[in-house]
Amino acid sequence: MNQDVYIGLGSNLESPISQIKQAVNAISKLPQTKLISSSSLYQSEPMGPQDQNQYINAVVKISTSLSPLPLLDELQAIEKQQGRVRKFERWGPRTLDLDLILYAEQTIQCERLTVPHYGMKERAFVILPLLEIEPDIQLPDGSLAAEIKNTLSLVGIHKL
Ligand code: ATP
Ligand code: CA
Ligand code: CA
Ligand code: CA
Repeated sequence: MNQDVYIGLGSNLESPISQIKQAVNAISKLPQTKLISSSSLYQSEPMGPQDQNQYINAVVKISTSLSPLPLLDELQAIEKQQGRVRKFERWGPRTLDLDLILYAEQTIQCERLTVPHYGMKERAFVILPLLEIEPDIQLPDGSLAAEIKNTLSLVGIHKL
């Protein structure tokens, strides 16, 4: 069965804008998957360590029949293909980060996957692009992204 899924993209190394565009293209070519829409690109301040470049972020919507874990495998393969190196430092610089933000209306809690993404309600760089492509979107707990936006500081983020 096809499910609507939202993926958050981020990059702050090695030509971030090209990294994001390349990743959107790779996502569009995943098996059993169709790209439905992609947001504008946003520039945002880094989370965590401040001694790193600004980030480029976006959100895409896909329709897929891949189950959550096989989809995560595919996303991590794209990260690796684009030179993502996993370091011990949390929220350190990276060529590409692909987070599974929402998977249909599902709530998933396992070792490798928490969906909805645990940080989405606190992150303007997720909520703004998500709202751009899906203004009425609701989370599995019934909250509206449009209302979550009103709780966020929008300082340090802008649409390119
Ligand atoms: P954050 O998760 O706070 O955005 P991060 O994206 O830098 O930080 P990563 O190092 O990319 O974190 O991912 C660590 C692990 O998080 C991954 O190996 C993956 O198994 C797990 N994970 C849990 N939930 C998700 C999700 N919704 N999307 C992507 N990865 C997830
Ligand atoms: Ca550092
Ligand atoms: Ca992330
Ligand atoms: Ca991640």
